[in-house]
Amino acid sequence: MIHLKTILRVENICKTYQAQNGEIEAIRDISFTVDEGEYISIVGPSGSGKSTLLSIIAGLLEPSGGKIYINDMPVQGVTQDIGYMLQSDNLLEWRSIWKNVLLGLEIRKMLNSETIEYAKSLLKNYGLYEFKDKHPSQLSGGMRQRVALIRTLAVKPDILLLDEAFSALDYQTRLKLTDDVYRILKKENKTTLMVTHDIAESICMADRIIVLTKRPAKIKSMHTIDFPEDAKTPLQRRNHPDFRHYFNTIWKELDVHV
Ligand code: ADP
Ligand code: MG
Repeated sequence: MIHLKTILRVENICKTYQAQNGEIEAIRDISFTVDEGEYISIVGPSGSGKSTLLSIIAGLLEPSGGKIYINDMPVQGVTQDIGYMLQSDNLLEWRSIWKNVLLGLEIRKMLNSETIEYAKSLLKNYGLYEFKDKHPSQLSGGMRQRVALIRTLAVKPDILLLDEAFSALDYQTRLKLTDDVYRILKKENKTTLMVTHDIAESICMADRIIVLTKRPAKIKSMHTIDFPEDAKTPLQRRNHPDFRHYFNTIWKELDVHV
């Protein structure tokens, strides 16, 4: 029995927004832990509090109650340990792909020969090096998201947060991209927390799925996703007979609350 290290602890997180027309309770008492190298997906209906939860984990938003620990250290404000990727790739058009990839390192004052080499190796390994002098608008949507991922990985975050990172893309692009992203994240052994409303995407990528109720979000259930050795990539998982079983189970869980 291998004992994995717990990297993230989410303890009794609550969040109530003070809005103009009263309070909005977004999250009620959410707790879970994530082990190093695990890929967790959080699914929940639209407006259930998924982005709120990620923002709290990233230290961008104060919870109303509860605490987040990364490597046993309480999160206070924005932390270097976390890489955050959103639906929009946020690439800067006036910078080349290479300069975009270096942006995170630049902002964190981490530019040195070692980090530059690492950024370069990521671009090379993941088929984007030949595009390094292009500008974002010259790349396809899927390529841009891969550039955004590489920019995020270049600073070597301990935990990667993905907020509906693929949902702006068309179906074909998304299938290809999720395969690429999965490969990259497994190879770099990243701990990943992805939120999405897309059940299929969750089943394709995650080791574990956390289902949230509608607002205020609570944990409805947790599911371990375990495909046989010959169905490990997202595309193989989609075509595996077990896929349907997982889909139906999680669909029902979500359905009750929509
Ligand atoms: P999801 O990402 O699951 O779609 P969000 O976390 O974005 O949901 O939002 C959860 C709920 O909190 C929604 O009802 C939303 O309207 C509300 N909400 C989000 N941000 C704010 C805010 N800054 N002020 C007030 N209410 C907010
Ligand atoms: Mg959201």
